[in-house]
Amino acid sequence: MQESEPRAWVEVDPEAVAYNMRVAQRIVPESQVMPVVKANAYGHGMKAIAHRLEREHPAFFGVANADEARALEEAGMITPPFLLGPVPPQEREEVVQKGWGCTVSSMEEARHLASLAKMGERQVRVHLALDTGMGREGFQPEELGEILPQLVNLDTLYVDGVMSHCPAADEEEKFTREQIELFGRCVEEIRQYVRPRFVHISASAGLLGYQVPMANMVRPGLMLYGVAPVPCPAAQELRTTLRVLTRVTLVRDLPAGHSVSYGRTYITPRPMRVATLGIGYADGWRRHLSDSGVAVFLYGTPCPLVGRVTMDQIMVDVSEAGDVIAGDVAELIGQHVTVQEVAQRAGTIPWDIFTGLGQRLPRVYRSFSD
Ligand SMILES: *Cc1c(COP(=O)(O)O)cnc(C)c1O
Repeated sequence: MQESEPRAWVEVDPEAVAYNMRVAQRIVPESQVMPVVKANAYGHGMKAIAHRLEREHPAFFGVANADEARALEEAGMITPPFLLGPVPPQEREEVVQKGWGCTVSSMEEARHLASLAKMGERQVRVHLALDTGMGREGFQPEELGEILPQLVNLDTLYVDGVMSHCPAADEEEKFTREQIELFGRCVEEIRQYVRPRFVHISASAGLLGYQVPMANMVRPGLMLYGVAPVPCPAAQELRTTLRVLTRVTLVRDLPAGHSVSYGRTYITPRPMRVATLGIGYADGWRRHLSDSGVAVFLYGTPCPLVGRVTMDQIMVDVSEAGDVIAGDVAELIGQHVTVQEVAQRAGTIPWDIFTGLGQRLPRVYRSFSD
């Protein structure tokens, strides 16, 4: 804890994340796992999570950029980082030098990486990205015949993996099945030229919903953080990894007909006990939750948010929650209010809520099972 008690904070259970990684591993026992820890481990705190997950023998840590990769190294991780998206030119030298995993989607990237490797008198190991429908990175499958002979000619570049990404594994089954088949055909074609060690396409939804016989690695993010993006048996097994908590700063009795918060969108329909809480949209408690009906939990009682979310504070109706006083702790995300529910009410997705949790919220690490 901090010296002055925070008004709002995030509790994280790294052990629960490790447990969820073991759930993932059990679903694909033959595969290696690349836990995705980008974006501060989905708001959980990258260092603490990586520290714990390293004991689960990950193949790589999935990150978004060189800063995240460097932060992992500086935290003493021995698991190599893997940059999930295209590497911009200015990050490539460091990637080659440090031997981080990365993708290539074009001959331009491949040639640049190969020449940087040559200058450093080393080899660069890359994962060939294939665009099987995501439209974000990767070679087009039809290009392979032309580019594979060129790629194998780059003597300082080694194709260590083949990867793709599913745009709709949680939405379109037929498309996803076809995509996986296309990926398989591409992998066969690639194997006529090189022997990639890693073949991977599945993030959480793909891992939970589809078998990919030719793959030998998976890249789960969200499910490690306790949320299954698709209905599945494993969803029940996943443990809650994060709680968002805030303190009551003030409790008052308002008369009927009193307006609450900016814009006066809420008028008390009756005399109401209203608590003010120390969290707002600057902490990632989305302004879109205004007038959404979302509730916070105080003493196990759902207390509806009233009025708009402000930058640092929200107001809730605590009329039913008993003797609430300043200093009491309310749960905003956790066992009672799931991140899925909050996301739905805010008109977004759990990934967005997790990664939007503000820097102002200290992360406190503890076990939820005691
Ligand atoms: C973020 C990301 C993942 C993890 O996705 P989840 O849906 O959170 O499991 C996997 N692969 C790539 C390429 C990503 O960018």
